[in-house]
Amino acid sequence: MLLLKTRSEDRQAPSSTCGDGGCPRVVIVGAGFGGLSAAKTIGKCGASVTVIDRRNYHLFQPLLYQVATAGLSESDIAAPIRGILRDQANTTVLMGMVRGIDTEHHQVLMDDGKTSYDYLVLATGARHAYSDDDWEAYAPGLKKVEDATNMRAKY
Ligand SMILES: Cc1cc2nc3c(=O)[nH]c(=O)nc-3n(C[C@H](O)[C@H](O)[C@H](O)COP(=O)(O)OP(=O)(O)OC[C@H]3O[C@@H](n4cnc5c(N)ncnc54)[C@H](O)[C@@H]3O)c2cc1C
Repeated sequence: MLLLKTRSEDRQAPSSTCGDGGCPRVVIVGAGFGGLSAAKTIGKCGASVTVIDRRNYHLFQPLLYQVATAGLSESDIAAPIRGILRDQANTTVLMGMVRGIDTEHHQVLMDDGKTSYDYLVLATGARHAYSDDDWEAYAPGLKKVEDATNMRAKY
């Protein structure tokens, strides 16, 4: 997880989602364990929090193997991000694919728009890696629902 903080002199005016006194806009990319934990903690601090994820659900990765072995269905290990954060009035959830960060103008760039931040938390997780990419066909990763359902269909 990576935290970027803008220099205070570079900060833009607080957005309209902030209170009258102004409050920092915190954008969190990724709603895995890391992003959700950050959203819940920072959400108590009087900040305006925006959580962005390419999916509309949080995935409980440790039980992916249960889906791959047909012990559980996909819906048993996925929960809507908006539902998880619904009690946080200062938190907005956006579904979107983040393509880049404009660090100069403090903006998160998505396929269909951009959003400004004072503080940015990048919690986009990790992917499996091999020293030789040719191995992937024989040892596929297990990080997404699709990985689990593909494995279930194959074996
Ligand atoms: C099969 C398996 C079993 C595991 N078992 C255990 C265990 O028993 N105990 C344990 O402690 N840990 C376990 N782990 C590890 C644990 O699940 C991970 O460490 C944890 O889920 C990582 O959380 P994260 O928030 O860093 O990333 P992730 O959960 O991967 O979340 C990243 C989020 O970022 C989003 N995202 C990524 N890129 C973008 C983008 N460009 N734009 C928008 N959104 C984006 C993704 O959609 C995702 O929701 C297991 C992992 C796996 C795969």
